[in-house]
Amino acid sequence: MKIVAVDLIALEEIKKMALRPVCCRIRTDEGIYGYGEAGVAIVSGAKAAFELMRDYGQMILGMNPLAHEVIWETLYKESFWAQGNGAIIMAAISAIDTALWDIKGKYFGKPVYELLGGKHRDKLRTYISQLQFGYHNKQFAQPGCLDAYQASYEHAMEEGYDAIKVNFFCQKPEGGELFHTETTGCLSRQVRKRFEERLALARKICGPDVDIIVENHCMTDYMTAMQTARIAEPYDILFLEEALTPTNADLWKKLASSTSIPLATGERIYSRWGFRPLLENGALSVAQPDVGNCGGITECKKICDMAHVYDVTVQTHTCNSPISVAAALQVEAAIPNFIIHEHHVSNTLPEITCMGKYDYQPENGYFAVPDLPGIGQELSDYALKRAHIETVQ
Ligand code: MG
Repeated sequence: MKIVAVDLIALEEIKKMALRPVCCRIRTDEGIYGYGEAGVAIVSGAKAAFELMRDYGQMILGMNPLAHEVIWETLYKESFWAQGNGAIIMAAISAIDTALWDIKGKYFGKPVYELLGGKHRDKLRTYISQLQFGYHNKQFAQPGCLDAYQASYEHAMEEGYDAIKVNFFCQKPEGGELFHTETTGCLSRQVRKRFEERLALARKICGPDVDIIVENHCMTDYMTAMQTARIAEPYDILFLEEALTPTNADLWKKLASSTSIPLATGERIYSRWGFRPLLENGALSVAQPDVGNCGGITECKKICDMAHVYDVTVQTHTCNSPISVAAALQVEAAIPNFIIHEHHVSNTLPEITCMGKYDYQPENGYFAVPDLPGIGQELSDYALKRAHIETVQ
């Protein structure tokens, strides 16, 4: 079997989320094709990933699609820039690698989780993620008032979740988000008060049996991360996410020794080499690689296995199209050190779910793992009709 074409697919932009998913479809001379996604859909970088997939697509034409390790190493070592990692480079490699696993699954007639060694669990515990954007009204925008937070918390409980994630400080009461100069150095007493009010309300509405995850989105520095950790300590939260920029491992170690809250990060860390310092220094409790930008399924599995050596659990990050969600489910089913699956509120919106041929949603806070061959997902005809597609062949 040989790779004969790589379709570069820019899906229709969802403006209210600043979301521009970019996928690839690798085609073979045996008629089997596979889908992968470059996990840089949000805010910036999608067009760059699209162009880089064009270069990488040319490099893999004629190669055996079942040789995913050979192709991964070829892209990593022969594309000149990949060895320094970086979001766009690794997202383009991820898209191609995920598509190769989709092909491999279809070729052998098996879901990817089986090719990775089998399912450790039939259902994946799932939290609903980023409730500050609103969950109850499907608008992906909610005012920063307590009533809106309450409505989102209540809707999550009605849907059966027993875990939620919220950025408790980024939304301003009048709408819009705080600027980075307002979230570093020192959080104002007003911001800290809002943070605690929103967190206390979450604990009150959701009760003692629900896990709460605090999301800082790398908006905090050491000082303001400590301020949020101090507020969160009494509320018995599951973990604190992206409290610091990801690249200073020493600072993470300092933060880990300053709080009892387990720390998580990974959506902006790429490849095994990127995760190594935070695993070795013991700062991390939860690794959050994104299958769409850490290097694909091949690399994500290796990162998960490395994390396992250090008793670090894994929740893969997802904030892209249904292609990425399906790939994440396959990996999470197949790793022993899985903790919980992230279901971004955007992946419940019709604008996003219509991009997938199948609409996978959790039931009562648990995701079933697709059993179809490959990753178990394709782009829908609806999405393909509205997409910009170019082909390398
Ligand atoms: Mg996050």
